[in-house]
Amino acid sequence: MEQIITCINCPMGCRMTVNMSPDGKVLSVSGNTCPRGEKYAVQECTLPVRMITAVIPAEGSAVPLSVKTSRPVPKALIRQVMDILGSIRITLPVCAGQVIVPDILQTGSDIIATRDLP
Ligand code: SF4
Repeated sequence: MEQIITCINCPMGCRMTVNMSPDGKVLSVSGNTCPRGEKYAVQECTLPVRMITAVIPAEGSAVPLSVKTSRPVPKALIRQVMDILGSIRITLPVCAGQVIVPDILQTGSDIIATRDLP
């Protein structure tokens, strides 16, 4: 099975062809200009991950708190992460970089504040 994907690691946007075995293993990657493309292609075709950014309500503030994951999480878990973030109510103050949810869904990624909210 062949998959065509575009590398998003730099503005070159190399278009790569990934050959997969029937059991989902990457057999070959072509079309990448540098090794970062191959690494991205293997990740994207076997366990795609994404950084998540979101805003969550803060008690007593008209301004919501912006947050992000500290590292990419499996794409398949995005809905569950968003459900958790939707249920959180933050108590102020919060500082940029503060961990809001440690190790969300046991992914090794923390949800951290991206701004101060006094
Ligand atoms: S393969 Fe390398 S050169 Fe091509 S888009 Fe990815 S990072 Fe850029």
